[in-house]
Amino acid sequence: MIVLSVPQCYTFAMEKKRELAIERQIEKVKRDLLALGDLRPGSLSTQYNVCGSPGCRCKASPPEKHGPYYQVSYTRKGKSSTKFVKKADLPTIRKQLKNYERLKLLMDRWIDLATELSNLRITKEKG
Ligand SMILES: [Zn+2]
Repeated sequence: MIVLSVPQCYTFAMEKKRELAIERQIEKVKRDLLALGDLRPGSLSTQYNVCGSPGCRCKASPPEKHGPYYQVSYTRKGKSSTKFVKKADLPTIRKQLKNYERLKLLMDRWIDLATELSNLRITKEKG
């Protein structure tokens, strides 16, 4: 019969408790992911342009450039893209960008929790 010493017993109980806490936190992350609305990656920027027409107000002194124009820039699978966005769509786009940032945070959190959980569950013997 193997009798665990008190410190080992204590450690085991603490680890079990931590495991349960992590499981609960992962469940919360999953619920938050399911509740996430529409999303899109990228960052929003505003642009003012100068056109090609001679004598246009965009070349006056001081210049009155054309715009603002709004665009979302993003890199996906190593490829950079830009999409122009209408002013009317800005609130929707902002919300989608925010949701994407939240997705990344939640995934990051899940990965950290899952790694810790795995470390607790795999064989403890040292090489
Ligand atoms: Zn112009």
